[in-house]
Amino acid sequence: MKGRLLIVEDEPAIARGLTDIFRQHGLEVMAEADGEAGLAAALSSKPDLILLDIMLPRINGFEICRAVREQGIDVPIVMLTAKGREEDVVRGLNLGADDYVTKPFRVAELIARVQAFLRRRPGHHIDIHRFGDCEVDLPSRTVTRDGQRVALTSKEFQLLAYFLQRPGCALSRDIILNAVWGHAVFVLPRSIDRCVTTLRAKIEVDPRKPRYIQTIRDVGYRFEP
Ligand code: CA
Repeated sequence: MKGRLLIVEDEPAIARGLTDIFRQHGLEVMAEADGEAGLAAALSSKPDLILLDIMLPRINGFEICRAVREQGIDVPIVMLTAKGREEDVVRGLNLGADDYVTKPFRVAELIARVQAFLRRRPGHHIDIHRFGDCEVDLPSRTVTRDGQRVALTSKEFQLLAYFLQRPGCALSRDIILNAVWGHAVFVLPRSIDRCVTTLRAKIEVDPRKPRYIQTIRDVGYRFEP
């Protein structure tokens, strides 16, 4: 792996462990133990990815997330959250975090997530996406499966396009709702679930065991191409 990683974590053992792991994987690692220093580093040192603890001295992870996004910085942010705190996850995602891992983490999973974000070119625009036997041409709004045209409703297509542009990101229902349905119409989170169900039926090999559009319990969805 290549890149600059910022770790903001006040638990010394975790910070040290993470630092060692990612240095061994070739990353340049900066570590900050309090929120204020973490935020300053996030704004000034241009990391390629931030691993962000939530409960931090002085400034918490939510505020850091909000402040970074308010500055228009779109560095990937992966939150380190406590197990069973789905409300923290949802709040963080709604403030602009991209993903989360729960403590205690499985190291292999954490490395895979970090790798996926670092591999992605920020701002890189792809018009044609392929996954499984599906091909999606965004400009012409066409979807084919095994070469056969698949008919999507306008919302299904918008939702799929939104997922494709955010591979590997955890997306809360609120975020999806605002982005795909907008504020103007009255829609319920249930509408998203319904749209996901019909979309899965059209693109998944086995819609009951979805491979691409994965459900994150109590949070939302994640698209894994
Ligand atoms: Ca903490």
